[in-house]
Amino acid sequence: MSESKNKLIKHAQIHWSDQLEPISGQFDDIYFNTEQGLSESLYVFIQGNDLAQRWLNCDTQHFAIAETGFGTGLNFLSTCLQFHRFRKKHPETKLKRLHFTSFEKYPLSKADLQIALQRWPQLSDYITPLLAQYPLPLTGCHRIILERFDITLDLWFGDVLESLPSLYLYESGLFDCWYLDGFAPSKNPEMWSETLFQHIAASCKNNASIATFTAAGFVRRGLMAAGFNMRKRKGYGKKREMLIGQINTHNADQPQYGQHFRASAQTQTKEVAIVGGGIASACLSLALVKRGYKVTLYCQDAALAQGASANKQGALYPLLNGAHNSLGQFFSNAFLYARNYVHSINQFSPFAFDFSGLLQLYYDQTAGKKLDKILQAQLPEELVQKLQSEQTDQLAQCDIGQQSLYYPLGGWLSPQQMVQAIIKKAKHKGDLTIKLNARLESFSEHKNGWQLHFPKQSVIHSLLVLTTAMNTLKFAPCAAVPLSAARGQVTYIPTNNTLQKLQVTLCHEGYLTPEHNNKHCMGATFKRHNIDSDFSLQEQCENKAKLAKCIPDKPWVAEIDCAHQDANIAIRCTTRDHFPYAGALADYEQTKTHYQHAVKALNKDNAPFYKDLFLLTGLGSRGLCTAPLLAEMLASQINKEPLPFSREILNALQTNRQWVNYLKKGKKLKF
Ligand code: FAD
Ligand code: SAM
Repeated sequence: MSESKNKLIKHAQIHWSDQLEPISGQFDDIYFNTEQGLSESLYVFIQGNDLAQRWLNCDTQHFAIAETGFGTGLNFLSTCLQFHRFRKKHPETKLKRLHFTSFEKYPLSKADLQIALQRWPQLSDYITPLLAQYPLPLTGCHRIILERFDITLDLWFGDVLESLPSLYLYESGLFDCWYLDGFAPSKNPEMWSETLFQHIAASCKNNASIATFTAAGFVRRGLMAAGFNMRKRKGYGKKREMLIGQINTHNADQPQYGQHFRASAQTQTKEVAIVGGGIASACLSLALVKRGYKVTLYCQDAALAQGASANKQGALYPLLNGAHNSLGQFFSNAFLYARNYVHSINQFSPFAFDFSGLLQLYYDQTAGKKLDKILQAQLPEELVQKLQSEQTDQLAQCDIGQQSLYYPLGGWLSPQQMVQAIIKKAKHKGDLTIKLNARLESFSEHKNGWQLHFPKQSVIHSLLVLTTAMNTLKFAPCAAVPLSAARGQVTYIPTNNTLQKLQVTLCHEGYLTPEHNNKHCMGATFKRHNIDSDFSLQEQCENKAKLAKCIPDKPWVAEIDCAHQDANIAIRCTTRDHFPYAGALADYEQTKTHYQHAVKALNKDNAPFYKDLFLLTGLGSRGLCTAPLLAEMLASQINKEPLPFSREILNALQTNRQWVNYLKKGKKLKF
């Protein structure tokens, strides 16, 4: 697959009628029938797909709907209302969670969306969390969670003809139901193409249904050719007819699309051991208990968050680049998700964070060039923008005297406190047992899953997920995963009259945070291949020297006292390409064997994996930004739900990515 290009997302051009009806400038069509929009949505899509009955008879815990054209989100919101009512009326049913995936090429701006949705006060319970989490116009998937209602929205920004084929499937399919809601076929023929219908059909689970407001003959024929049984039904209001249908069988000969399956859990038992104790394990524990899994978390330390996640303050911002390629897309969407996540955890159990902005300084020519390159991606100013030196000083409330890149949504958070808060929430939400002082020494295959060996006992679990950072390499099946260690020491410095004024997080070669509990976090050293965890006075001085090098000749920097032992030392677990590892653990030995017979067919997604063994590690220097969305992705994958990343990004997260790249180039594996 070729590297994705930076596709800028343009907002919808909205014209407003006198009655504040949104009309699309791009397509010259209305978004919804003004007076009866809500009841039309109910009639065409919800009743057209017979959802009340299907939800009642549903024998799985989640039901997945997909839609072409999110627009104002009316269909989504009206589905939320119906699902909420259904759950209240039938609390005993097996179905507990709704997953709604929608594709949108021209998203409304948040301001336009707010205006468009004003006319539906009956939907305000769902509109409020949607608006609070509504993403910036960035390509890819934005996962939004309406927690109170157990509803997840995956909002894909970009052309559906590109986004839908980029989704990973499971062998059993992905969606239970489709809403086809583009503008009228005459105004937007691309959205009604046979290619799209084939992709829609290939994404269907057995018995998936489909409904659309149009009764156009070519739409009916196209859907039938793709594998749907279609029939006409009375249209809404004055409209004569509309179409409803059901998938026949999977189209076995779908081109490439249907062949890309993601390895989910094979056991039916919703029971899992997570080994770790840092932010990765906390986020994953919460994501899995919410899905009804019984989770046991094993940590080698006497308390959680003693490893890299032990810092008092860490910076939250995305890793961007000028190409805005899959790496930039991964980080920026993970960043937006992390912010929403922090708010939701904080609502449950308050902890220290401050999203008052973050500045990356143009401290020398090389840094300046690198930062200027980021601007080439033309990302939204709400994400990143350049400031002149007076603006930098004004925003920071500090004498710096340099240009900077400003991340208005960035800031800092307390990782250690956040881990505690996430775990508290996970315990509250579901079945989580924590075993401290439990160092996993090894594990082996067992007929009922995996047998975990601790110094004094062995236990069996159906599923196993390792979030053990660098220690992952100590386990034989993981020994070839390319990870490398980088020791880091952060220095906690006492605040003073000047430092106290610092309003934003400053990033240079290191970073300096605003005051928290009378201290600032000045970091951090980066010692490759060093796993020594002893305090170093020299590294305290290095942290200050770095700040002084990047912000030279400022008395407030010179005054900083670092000749003390207030510090935290931890080991980062890094990867060469900055992508973490998240997914099923690939089998190194079998990959080698596979290569001998079928190198041409070898792909990152069809190479051999261990059954029911997963990994979430390699979070490097930005784990605070990526852990929440990665954990959501992995929990979704284990539970066979739609995933919040494109195949390209998911492949970049695979444990086997470097081995496969080596093999494809004809190199020998030597990891
Ligand atoms: P960890 O937090 O290291 O957790 C691994 C856990 O696994 C530990 O609890 C450990 O006890 C447990 N474990 C390991 N082996 C076993 C075993 N055999 N049995 C049982 N338990 C085991 N990121 C940012 O986003 N912003 C920052 O500003 C930032 N600053 C940083 C500064 C420093 C000095 C360092 C070191 C890292 C920094 N990071 C920052 C990176 C961030 O802290 C990490 O990416 C993140 O904490 C990794 O989380 P984790 O859960 O993967 O690993
Ligand atoms: N379902 C929406 C609602 O509930 O408000 C109304 C959808 S509106 C009729 C059609 C939407 O499809 C528009 O928002 C338009 O921007 C979007 N669209 C059109 N072509 C598209 C494409 N190729 N890919 C993704 N979205 C597209």
